[in-house]
Amino acid sequence: STPGGPKVREEKILVTVRMRPLSRKEQAMYDLVAWDCLDDFKIVFKNPNYERPTTSYTFDKVFDPTCSTQKVYEEGAKDVALSALTGINATIFAYGQTGSGKTFTMRGISENAIKDIYDHIKSNPERDFVLKISALEIYNESVVDLLNRESGSLRLLDDPEKGTIVEKLAEEVVKDSQHLRHLIGICEAQRQVGETSLNDNSSRSHQIIRLVKGICHRPLRVVSEKVQAVAITLTQNLVDLAGSERASQTNADGIRLKEGSHINRSLLTLTTVIRKLSGGKRSGHIPYRDSKLTRILQHSLGGNARTAIICTISPALSHVDQTRNTLSFATSAK
Ligand code: ADP
Ligand code: MG
Repeated sequence: STPGGPKVREEKILVTVRMRPLSRKEQAMYDLVAWDCLDDFKIVFKNPNYERPTTSYTFDKVFDPTCSTQKVYEEGAKDVALSALTGINATIFAYGQTGSGKTFTMRGISENAIKDIYDHIKSNPERDFVLKISALEIYNESVVDLLNRESGSLRLLDDPEKGTIVEKLAEEVVKDSQHLRHLIGICEAQRQVGETSLNDNSSRSHQIIRLVKGICHRPLRVVSEKVQAVAITLTQNLVDLAGSERASQTNADGIRLKEGSHINRSLLTLTTVIRKLSGGKRSGHIPYRDSKLTRILQHSLGGNARTAIICTISPALSHVDQTRNTLSFATSAK
């Protein structure tokens, strides 16, 4: 058999929704839980104030506030994450408004993914793996290296073979799972540095942690010595997106915001790309090139890749409009 080698698959995007618990602050303000999770697949508006017909939304899986991140990983990300070990590029996103649990969820996802990657490496001793990590942040359409912030704003280049590449992006070879955790910790610390200097940075920026696995097949003794080890590279992207409120062009009253900085070009383009990919319009024009985020992820989204989107929502009645926006994005991504 020929392991590795990207296969062409037309698979739908795995879309799940995770509802966090009410926060202490929300509880202290007597905020109410506005949504029910039903049958593992449905979210229903409870309308706690009035008895009126309710709206319900259906997804591949719904995780209620009692679900552990382990379960979210197992049922909402694992298959996609592991496809990067078996021949298909993988991208896992967290999408949702600021404060809904994207970073909380992606931390747990990467923790679980690291464990699985190393279990896989241990159980395939006949192959040599090289695991590399790179990490970047996109803020106002500017790309910054989270492993080497000093390198400033990075340019995107078009490589005829590799597609879009980020010029001068640092790539570290990962020695073991402990080293990988350490490197992810550095990226998170870097992102927080940005947060103190740029007001509200994490709600405006996208973080991509990219794990690249190179596979070198050890030449078997029976094979002619002329046969060289083949190197295949596969990519797994873990993406913590800007707050979904940045994708909305209108405020709560439906009035178009004048200030352009409220709109996040990369997030808006991503939602368009996802809608087109899931709408069976794969042959039509997909505007990958309209933003940095979608250019960087182009080869890990769509035809040859697998995608999971974990939409995070707040249960609070006070956030119901943003939650509705997230649920309707999630519906259009299915
Ligand atoms: P975001 O990245 O979407 O802005 P965070 O991940 O920072 O949101 O989460 C906001 C707060 O809610 C954090 O204090 C986080 O620890 C908490 N939180 C988020 N999701 C959960 C959850 N499923 N269970 C418990 N606490 C959570
Ligand atoms: Mg966050």
